[in-house]
Amino acid sequence: MHNDDRQYDVMVIGGGSGGWVAAAQSARVGARTLLVEKTGMLGGTTTTAGVNFPGLFHAWGKQVIAGIGWEVVNRTVEETGQTLPDFGDYARHHHSKLQIRVNVFVYAALCDETVVQSGARILFHAMPAALKPMTGNTGWHVTLCTKNGLEDYTAKVVIDATGDANAVSLAGFELNIPDTLQPATLSCRAGGYDFNKLDIDAIKSAYQEQVQAGRLQYTDAGWNTQEPDVRRWLRVRGANANHIHHISARDSCGKTKLELEARASLLRLYRFLRTQPGLEKFEIESVCPECGVRETATIKGKKTVTVGDYRNGRVWDDALCYAFYPIDLHRSEGDGLNKQPLEEGVVPTVPRGALLPAGSRNLIVAGRCVSSDRLANSALRVQASCMAMGQAAGAMAALSAQSGLDPEALAIEDIRDMLRQHGAIVPGSGFPV
Ligand SMILES: Cc1cc2nc3c(=O)[nH]c(=O)nc-3n(C[C@H](O)[C@H](O)[C@H](O)COP(=O)(O)OP(=O)(O)OC[C@H]3O[C@@H](n4cnc5c(N)ncnc54)[C@H](O)[C@@H]3O)c2cc1C
Repeated sequence: MHNDDRQYDVMVIGGGSGGWVAAAQSARVGARTLLVEKTGMLGGTTTTAGVNFPGLFHAWGKQVIAGIGWEVVNRTVEETGQTLPDFGDYARHHHSKLQIRVNVFVYAALCDETVVQSGARILFHAMPAALKPMTGNTGWHVTLCTKNGLEDYTAKVVIDATGDANAVSLAGFELNIPDTLQPATLSCRAGGYDFNKLDIDAIKSAYQEQVQAGRLQYTDAGWNTQEPDVRRWLRVRGANANHIHHISARDSCGKTKLELEARASLLRLYRFLRTQPGLEKFEIESVCPECGVRETATIKGKKTVTVGDYRNGRVWDDALCYAFYPIDLHRSEGDGLNKQPLEEGVVPTVPRGALLPAGSRNLIVAGRCVSSDRLANSALRVQASCMAMGQAAGAMAALSAQSGLDPEALAIEDIRDMLRQHGAIVPGSGFPV
């Protein structure tokens, strides 16, 4: 394959949890696959936003998501000499203990290796400028914006794994854009202090004064909108510990506003903390290159997963994977989080129809922008579920490109068979209950 090849069976746009898995699956079964990523690294939110704890692969003590994503998470754990959590310890309120901490560098490098070995081509530092259907709806003309300017490509099937449904929107399909969005989070690694030697009460009351004087916001160092949570921020050293509110980061202007506000928030906090006893040598050792975005938009799909479907563990007739996580809606008021565990034994599923934009042909989504209402999406958006959707999307896209059938017209058992052959767990046959 030459680097200037412009004709593909499958083009995957976005190389996060959904996208890199989709590209590897599609190429592993022989589809000519291009993975287009706007940054210089695969992994998406896991790597560039530092949310390096994918979950959840297990529900109620059983594995419900496996396949290509699990393969690489597992290899990262092995390669770094870590150990996996005890997945038998599944008490409802401890879902965070079932997530798997991965080293960002090793994970990103193994994503590269997996995608390259699959035969897919990766194009970093590029994003789509336009998507137009080919004559007879046989695929897509995709214009990519690259460092050389605009370049024209074709693909029989496009997978939108941008998290923001950017490609679906460029192709002219409608999105659901909520009026209220979950807050975003900028993660960092803070150092230069001994947490156990800090007078937290004194720092909290100084923080409170700064908020009253209008120089700090509570959410600069926490999720709670009504009181300082600087103890947790200092204990976790800035990892997933602030909230940036009310910015829609679906397009470049919105993302710019978000990055500026997130770093300004961290700078306010940095300046304050360095004035506190025990924090004279406080420093930000590293900061994630991107602010992590929890919510922007979902597609209007051929099917939509509602919170009722999710809570009841509906097994759709076209289910392609499981998903598992508590409902987890971050809020801009109160304590900042609406978390609702699932009833014991419930394992929700994701239907093919929720990955297909209504009215579209040869277009699939994978990941966070899956068609779902806000509460269902607050749970479906997590990384293991996005990987499972990615693998399903990759299999569908390859089958579709090879057969000339639209993804909706494929026999569901053909997709499921391919997924099983590549290690994925597929709903049906009485599994997992
Ligand atoms: C602060 C925070 C905490 C979270 N906590 C957890 C947790 O504890 N456990 C968990 O499992 N999940 C957690 N999540 C959720 C999870 O990380 C994301 O929802 C998930 O990574 C989404 O996967 P994705 O593939 O849909 O999108 P992403 O991982 O965001 O990947 C999208 C990729 O597409 C690229 N891209 C975007 N637009 C374009 C474009 N136009 N052209 C080309 N490339 C593009 C991006 O650069 C990125 O690489 C958290 C999220 C956040 C923000």
